[in-house]
Amino acid sequence: MLIDKLWELQELQLDYRQKERLLQESDLSSLLSHKIDETEEQLAALRGQLETFRADEVRISEKLDDLSAKVHEAGAKLGKEEMSEDKVQKLEEKMKKLTLEKEKVENAQGKNFHDRQDVEDQTRASELLVEKLRKELQSIPKLDTKSRAAVKKSLPTLRKDIENRKSKLPLKAKLIFDNLSQKFSGAPISRAASSTCDYCHVRLPQKILFRLRNAESGGDAEELIRCEICGKILYVGTKDRE
Ligand SMILES: [Zn+2]
Repeated sequence: MLIDKLWELQELQLDYRQKERLLQESDLSSLLSHKIDETEEQLAALRGQLETFRADEVRISEKLDDLSAKVHEAGAKLGKEEMSEDKVQKLEEKMKKLTLEKEKVENAQGKNFHDRQDVEDQTRASELLVEKLRKELQSIPKLDTKSRAAVKKSLPTLRKDIENRKSKLPLKAKLIFDNLSQKFSGAPISRAASSTCDYCHVRLPQKILFRLRNAESGGDAEELIRCEICGKILYVGTKDRE
């Protein structure tokens, strides 16, 4: 019967779609792995930069302490000792120079602090990204290279089989099947096992149930019975027919 052929066709079609999806997910999974590796590399570089910033920070602090001590020392001398005007002038010049240098080092310290904060922000962002990518990767089913190749290889044959079966259908049945396939993600047929449409779960009218169970086979689209609610083609297995 036409409906049995369509049912088989739907099974093949769904199988094809599922395999296609599996391949897409496998592509996505290698893309994600690659992106994770890349981000990990960036993270390592950023962490290296942070180490440098920390070492610089220590060095700058030491220099600043040293300069502060020198300024303090010069200041103390200036206040205490009796000295010639010439010497006072020299000492004042020295203090001025030291103070200028101290300002420079303080600026460098400020810059180092801000730059380090930038790199810390980038590091945190990269850490979050890696975490997110890892979670995404975990949610994708694994497909090893061998099964991937097998799935990929089976697709053209499956497709040919589907096309071949479709070409043998009466034109009107093929059109209905294709239209509904598009509308229902490749599943145009719904089982009607227990007096309801399996898809929309609406109870089917007696006359439809009667027609489904006593279907006459004319071999054309007229014999296809559709759910009045969702529009899918209805199917009862051969053993439920009389
Ligand atoms: Zn329905």
